[in-house]
Amino acid sequence: MADPLFIAIDGPAGVGKSTVARKLAERLGFTHVDSGATYRAAALKVLESGASPDDERAVIEIVARADIRLVTDGRQARVLLDGQDVSRRIRKPEVTLAASKVSRLPEVRQRLIALQRSVPVGRGMVMEGRDIGTVVFPEAPLKIFLRADPEERARRRLGQEREEGQARSLVETAREIERRDRLDSERKVSPLVAAPDACQIDSTRLTADQVVEQIVTLAREKKLIL
Ligand code: C5P
Repeated sequence: MADPLFIAIDGPAGVGKSTVARKLAERLGFTHVDSGATYRAAALKVLESGASPDDERAVIEIVARADIRLVTDGRQARVLLDGQDVSRRIRKPEVTLAASKVSRLPEVRQRLIALQRSVPVGRGMVMEGRDIGTVVFPEAPLKIFLRADPEERARRRLGQEREEGQARSLVETAREIERRDRLDSERKVSPLVAAPDACQIDSTRLTADQVVEQIVTLAREKKLIL
């Protein structure tokens, strides 16, 4: 059997990473892993513990002891916090901002990166995040960095939030995206940057299916898949 293939998909908030990564994994029969869910679960634990996500010492201590796991059925990885599936709870806006704050701490990243690397690969894996191609799997043979205009990203994120039953305005969503972009790009450890060997795709005017198609073509050109 061929070696399992790792595909890294990185990019800023609202760029459509999750939809593209999920569809790509489905198409190839690979496992889809959303690394952001681990930072969100860590942030949820911090908030549930009553600590402030800005209190670095408390965050480091809480996350070090937190029971966070990534389990997979071979298709999709789900994040468990204290043994419970928290996939829905980690999508709340207060968790989103807290995730960007806790993810700045090297101690937190170290623990969660180890967790991300420990997911069984299966036939192959599509992992999405901010630092998958640069730090988590720098040896991945196919790295994609997605870009899209900020207004389009805000619109996409708003659509996703509405599907999840949250009611926010476009202006609020755009502001949150801008704030997270800043936090994620300016942090000292693993900032959001494209790996030098990443293929950059601007998805502003593309549907998720068109982006998936481009990635499949790239994988074929590189002779990674048939
Ligand atoms: O991808 P998502 O929006 O769910 O990620 C939530 C937050 O987790 C991001 O804003 C970022 O701060 C952090 N994150 C990260 N590294 C990753 C994935 C997510 O720092 N690989």
